[in-house]
Amino acid sequence: MNAMVKAEGVHKSFGQIEVLKGIDLEVAPREVFCLIGPSGSGKSTFLRCINHLEKISAGRLYVDGELVGYRQKGDRLYELKDSEVALKRRDIGMVFQRFNLFPHMTAVENVMEAPVQVKGETRATARARALKLLDRVGLGDKAGNYPSQLSGGQQQRVAIARALAMDPKLMLFDEPTSALDPELVGDVLDVMRQLAEDGMTMVVVTHEMGFAREVGDALVFMDDGVVVESGHPRDVLTNPQHDRTKSFLSKVL
Ligand code: ADP
Ligand code: MG
Repeated sequence: MNAMVKAEGVHKSFGQIEVLKGIDLEVAPREVFCLIGPSGSGKSTFLRCINHLEKISAGRLYVDGELVGYRQKGDRLYELKDSEVALKRRDIGMVFQRFNLFPHMTAVENVMEAPVQVKGETRATARARALKLLDRVGLGDKAGNYPSQLSGGQQQRVAIARALAMDPKLMLFDEPTSALDPELVGDVLDVMRQLAEDGMTMVVVTHEMGFAREVGDALVFMDDGVVVESGHPRDVLTNPQHDRTKSFLSKVL
């Protein structure tokens, strides 16, 4: 079976600064793949490369068996056109630390927006589906609320529903609970746990080690643009092998 994400020697530089220095990893279908590491280690950059928001500088990156950003003909790579990139991005949902909901739209309108605008679904179809998705994230009764009328945790759950509305085959989470008050974190993690149980393939950048241990199937510790250590979350978290991992975990656990 194809890996859902496969990185082979992925490098990414911004000018002279090399941020990713040869990342190798594989995310299997239906896996919850957790990515941890200190601030500045390149976690967000890596997610952004997976999601076509950045172009890698060297190496190969595949999503569901297809090269990200390029088409290969023989030995040569050709950059994809913007329209081709847009098509591929539809298949990947992303949830950020900041929820970025449209402030002038209600929860249900936020969730409907992409299916209507991007996929050309009718408003009625998109609305029915959006209401189901809001129900799934525990917000069936908040469909008519504007973001300003929702807590941070509720807004983040709307953001998850909005990503799911495009039927992604892969969901990327970039510190989805880091901006939330502590008492709101649990509800968001519960939604993510449910999504994992439903079989969604997920790459999750998080500082929630409890979530990584309980829900994660694989965990990678990244530092300074390289994968320092990887394995089953329980093993890495309870028995880290590298000093850098030990030092990081001693600060977050
Ligand atoms: P993390 O998510 O692990 O905190 P990031 O991927 O956000 O790390 O950042 C890794 C490094 O890349 C940081 O030093 C950051 O300043 C740098 N970086 C990220 N994006 C850009 C950019 N667009 N231009 C220049 N440097 C960047
Ligand atoms: Mg980051």
